Formats: sequence, structure tokens, C-alpha cells
Amino acid sequence: MEAPYGYTATGRIRKKPIKGTVPLAAPVNNPQLQVESEKPEKFIRCPVTTCNKDFQHRKDPHKAVWQHLLHHANSYVGDPDHKTAYSAIKEKRKAEAGDKKTREKRNSARWRARNARKAKRSSAMGTAKRKFEIQLRRAGEFTEAALKKLVDDKMAEWDLNN
Ligand SMILES: [Zn+2]
Repeated sequence: MEAPYGYTATGRIRKKPIKGTVPLAAPVNNPQLQVESEKPEKFIRCPVTTCNKDFQHRKDPHKAVWQHLLHHANSYVGDPDHKTAYSAIKEKRKAEAGDKKTREKRNSARWRARNARKAKRSSAMGTAKRKFEIQLRRAGEFTEAALKKLVDDKMAEWDLNN
């Protein structure tokens, strides 16, 4: 049997939470807290657990940690744990930078311009279709093929001018 509220001092299963405490059955992982931050984490300590050297007194702790890792990574006598940590973090950062580039590309002015043109083109095409359909029907010459031909010609012209 589970003991979501733990055990009493005599070893019996608690039926109620102790006043003022969070029951153990409550979700421990708040999904909101699990959302990864967009910004890569900034170091203040060496991420190698066996080292854990503190750099928070430095002017730029993050940079100091990097230099510390880099020093090991580039040295023949460097600590292998630091070497491993350095390359792992480097790979992770590289992947994140790739994602960032993709995001930026998507948001770039060029992308917006291309899509603005697309929107403009589809609006022009709609206008042309309506206009030519009315003209063709008035002339009693309406067919889908005739309409398509007129619209295609119009859009070829539009493409040249836009
Ligand atoms: Zn270290």
C-alpha cells in the first residue's frame, strides 16, 4: 500500500497530510517549471560535479567557467571529466544555436516580404477572377477554360511587375 502522506512516528501509514505540509501525492513536477527557458543557462560554477569550482566572485562568471573548461579541454594533462563536459556543452550550444538560426530566419524581413508578396498575389488573383468572370458572362463567352486563360495571362503580367 502506498503512503502518500508518509508514516507516523509509530510506523503507521498516515491517512491525512500533516497540517502545513504538501502531500507527497501532489504532482512534484510542475509542468510550468519544466518549460525550458529560451536563453541558454549561464554558469556560475563548474558543471563538472567532482569539481564544482565556484566562479561567482568573477566579473563574468559564465565566461570564467568556459575558460576553466577550455583550459582543461585544450591541455594534454587536462581533466578528462572537464574535457567531456566541455565537448558535451559545446555540442548542446551548437544545436541550440542552430534552432535559433532557424527561428531568426523564419522571422526575417525577407521571409515576411516573401509572404507579403504571396498575400498580395493571391488578392490580385481574386480580383482578376471576379473581374474577368463578369466580363465573360456579359459577353456570353464564359467557360472555366476561358476564365483560366485570362487569369493566367493577368497573373503572368502581375509577376513581371511585382
Ligand atoms: Zn572544474
